[in-house]
Amino acid sequence: MSVKFQFDENEALFRQMVRARITEILPADIQDRQRRTLHNSTDLADQRRWLAALDGQGWSVPAWPVEYGGTGWSPLQRFIFEDEMYAADAPEFNWIGSHMVGPVLIAFGSDAQRERFLPPIRSGKEVWAQGFSEPGSGSDLASLRTQARREGDRYIVNGSKIWTSGAFEADWLFCLAKTDIQGKPQRSVSCLMIDLKTPGITVRRIEQINGEAHLCQVFFDDVEVPVEHLVGEEGGGWSYAKYLLDHERTTSSFIFWIKRELARTRELGRTVLYNGRPIIADPHWSYRLAIAAAEITAHEWSVLRVLSNEPSTFPISAGASVLKVKGSEIQQTITGLQVDLLGERALRDFGSEHLPPSDDPNWPDVVQGRTSRAMMARASTIYGGSLQIQKNLLAKLALGL
Ligand SMILES: Cc1cc2nc3c(=O)[nH]c(=O)nc-3n(C[C@H](O)[C@H](O)[C@H](O)COP(=O)(O)OP(=O)(O)OC[C@H]3O[C@@H](n4cnc5c(N)ncnc54)[C@H](O)[C@@H]3O)c2cc1C
Repeated sequence: MSVKFQFDENEALFRQMVRARITEILPADIQDRQRRTLHNSTDLADQRRWLAALDGQGWSVPAWPVEYGGTGWSPLQRFIFEDEMYAADAPEFNWIGSHMVGPVLIAFGSDAQRERFLPPIRSGKEVWAQGFSEPGSGSDLASLRTQARREGDRYIVNGSKIWTSGAFEADWLFCLAKTDIQGKPQRSVSCLMIDLKTPGITVRRIEQINGEAHLCQVFFDDVEVPVEHLVGEEGGGWSYAKYLLDHERTTSSFIFWIKRELARTRELGRTVLYNGRPIIADPHWSYRLAIAAAEITAHEWSVLRVLSNEPSTFPISAGASVLKVKGSEIQQTITGLQVDLLGERALRDFGSEHLPPSDDPNWPDVVQGRTSRAMMARASTIYGGSLQIQKNLLAKLALGL
């Protein structure tokens, strides 16, 4: 498949159809809250309602095989769909469920697991968190110490996970644990699905600098997990994690989120006044915006290259690392530009969850939440594989160093 940077007539029609349907099914109150939230994360109740609405349309897990409720769309159609979701300010997917647990269960799970776990992921009824990182084991996941000891028909889990996004409100944890404490790390780590309501689990929220407390530490104290909740083979944890990396190469590009923030930055530039004129009329700001926009277009084209399977001399995971590095850096550029545009005004109302609609022309809704988002964007070079680790990987994979 050759790379296409322009969409053809069929794709334009597809975009129109998707846009019209999203407009129809996205509840106005959810869209309004999304626009005015100060934070990155969506209210869980809104996310569940939105996933249920998408599921009704058959669109809640577009990338899954059709037999499991997927759409059968091409990668480019899925790209257009997500682009439209973000442009409409719809809530995000529950990524761990739809982009991680689902694909792994479809590829490696048992029929019983697929039957039990896939439908509630599709409908948003069950929401998942990811339990990989531990105190002392982040980049170096091989050193993780949470243990799952087999006793008859169950595992007994002890240890702790940290930075677990959304664990305080999630239903299930997709968790890596050591099932063999003697063996090599690559064969001793297994994937368990853990019901977060199981006795022995304590979830503690961690307060963040941006006013949220979305991250958590999860403690396991003799937690019993039925063996039926082991994913695939015991000791197969690494190969499933690698499968995901090759499978979901463009998710960490954050391209749609970034495009939405670019649109917001333009809106800010038009609405914020400087010496009585829209600030964007000032050459300094229009120059900075133009540079950011050019970088974002280049990033979008890189995503399309990966989606088009453009022939490359590098292994496919190198593409994922490039998108992660650029995507996280651009997140910081664009949110930093918003804060710079607003100056001290960026700090206004920092801290509360949602603000009432503003009827003050000097404080349009688009001003809200900018500092919170810029702070959250600082974390994008840490989570999902830190910038330095991605660069190490690229040095090895792409440059052979
Ligand atoms: C907002 C946010 C959400 C998160 N959500 C989740 C989640 O839902 N589930 C989950 O499991 N985890 C989550 N994480 C954790 C995240 O995956 C880890 O923070 C990340 O892997 C880095 O690990 P660490 O924090 O232990 O830092 P460390 O691994 O200790 O790294 C510290 C610093 O040293 C650098 N470094 C480490 N090793 C090397 C090396 N070999 N070469 C060069 N530099 C190196 C790193 O790049 C980093 O700058 C989240 C983190 C954040 C910030």
